[in-house]
Amino acid sequence: MSADMPAASRGSLTVVGLGPGDPALRTPAVTEALDAATDIIGYRTYIDLAGPFAPEQRVHASDNRMELDRARHAFDLAATGARVVMVSSGDPGVFAMAAAVMEALDHPEDPAWHQVQLSVLPGVTAAQAASALAGAPLGHDFCVLSLSDNLKPWAEIELRLALMCEADLVLALYNPRSKARPEQFRRAVALIRGRRAPETIVVLGRDIARPGEQLTVTTLADLDPDQVDMRTVVIVGSSRTKRIERPDGGCWVYTPRHY
Ligand code: SAH
Repeated sequence: MSADMPAASRGSLTVVGLGPGDPALRTPAVTEALDAATDIIGYRTYIDLAGPFAPEQRVHASDNRMELDRARHAFDLAATGARVVMVSSGDPGVFAMAAAVMEALDHPEDPAWHQVQLSVLPGVTAAQAASALAGAPLGHDFCVLSLSDNLKPWAEIELRLALMCEADLVLALYNPRSKARPEQFRRAVALIRGRRAPETIVVLGRDIARPGEQLTVTTLADLDPDQVDMRTVVIVGSSRTKRIERPDGGCWVYTPRHY
């Protein structure tokens, strides 16, 4: 990196997206940042995905729920001159650490945080990886929603689901169903079923680009909520989303770009 010389002394924080799993889907810029890091910080599962690391690289693994604390810790480390890399799965800007890092910087605990050389490196997000496997379900206008109401009220989620149905957008649903809140996905599906045709195509991508990867193409009518968990990204087609049968018994799914 060309800006390294004068910037190195003031430390850096690079927020990176690892992609969905397979290192082949990780950008070279992210690999470069990981190689150059003195400190790697993130949720334990993603640290494992990002490694292995050299013995001199310090690894700070933490619990998934402490996002803001983790962001503050990263700034504190970088402010001492470290080259810190913060890891997220997929893209760091999609329901992940980049927003927490910005939030920490918005309320800095130490003016030195503003001296840190901050950058965000994108990654392939789960919806893109699942979409590519299926064909092109996100080929036209789509929206992305997280179903987790840990951080926002459920009423707002329902409103967004209703509006995306009204607008006939393709929907990519993240954090669809956790053990702690199994009923919400059922409620979301019931809401969509009330507003979209039963034959609407649904794609379930589970552990995409990871061992045990599963891609399921079904319909809104046949969708079984028990097939869905937190390792799944759900794509609900629009009224225009179609399937093409393949000679191998499988199918492609796509949303045409003009109609
Ligand atoms: N920043 C991540 C998303 C974090 S939210 C990204 O851009 O992909 C976590 C949710 O992402 C999961 O509940 C799941 O819905 C989805 N997800 C992440 N990785 C996935 C994968 N490899 N396969 C399927 N879904 C995945």
